[in-house]
Amino acid sequence: MMREIIDFHTHPYETMGEYSCMYRDSFYLNREEAEAELKAVGITHICGSVIEVGVKKEDWEKEGFAYIQKLNNRALEIAEHFNGYCTPGFHVHPDYVRESCDEIERMHKKGVQLIGELVPYMHGWKDYSNRNFAEILDVAEQYHMIISYHTVEEEAEQMAQMIAEHKNLIFVAAHPGQRVGYEKHIERISRYENAYLDLSGTGLFRYGMLCHGVKKLGSERILFGTDFPITNPGMYVQAVLYEHITDKDRENIFSKNAKRLLNRANTI
Ligand SMILES: [Zn+2]
Repeated sequence: MMREIIDFHTHPYETMGEYSCMYRDSFYLNREEAEAELKAVGITHICGSVIEVGVKKEDWEKEGFAYIQKLNNRALEIAEHFNGYCTPGFHVHPDYVRESCDEIERMHKKGVQLIGELVPYMHGWKDYSNRNFAEILDVAEQYHMIISYHTVEEEAEQMAQMIAEHKNLIFVAAHPGQRVGYEKHIERISRYENAYLDLSGTGLFRYGMLCHGVKKLGSERILFGTDFPITNPGMYVQAVLYEHITDKDRENIFSKNAKRLLNRANTI
């Protein structure tokens, strides 16, 4: 039987502007090539939001929430082109509370239940404990959304507050980071039942890190993720395959946990 691998953290793209690879000047895969590449390394499904590289808030502020909604519509379009291979994620923005809440409702009607990866640093906001953002999360909670969010170590307090205030929302933190940040993730996630961690970005290349996480946290709270096309997906798959964990733990991390979360309000 083929192994299922769900990449919970990618940034689907179709245009150069949406292509977040850091070596984009030398290396480009179009959408079809990207799909072939992801499948070749064993990834059977991807999730994530569309981001635009090098665009600052000043550039779209006049457009207001329409800009955010444009990214969300692109996520829907691209997912459609992926034809079942991609679960789209959408953005919300604390400067636009009412619009964000309406967007949650609109996406819910379309069967979308993944918010994020949220990238505050790209959209000109920070602080997850922001009151406007908390209002948006109240609505997300009613619709049983999953929140995938970019993390920075300095905002440990704000992240903890956000999670603690929304016990019925699922929060998936992105990027384990290096050992210090990773330990903080582990500590936070073990405190809150609704907190999870994906493996995207920095961390997984340190040998033994997954073994450590499974030992401290159990494999039920860790989700496979890459951050493709910023990162090389083959490297992440191999890293998980060669960590010294049980097959059952590997299955949880590769697909079972993501399926359990995504099936809560039924899609995939
Ligand atoms: Zn990302």
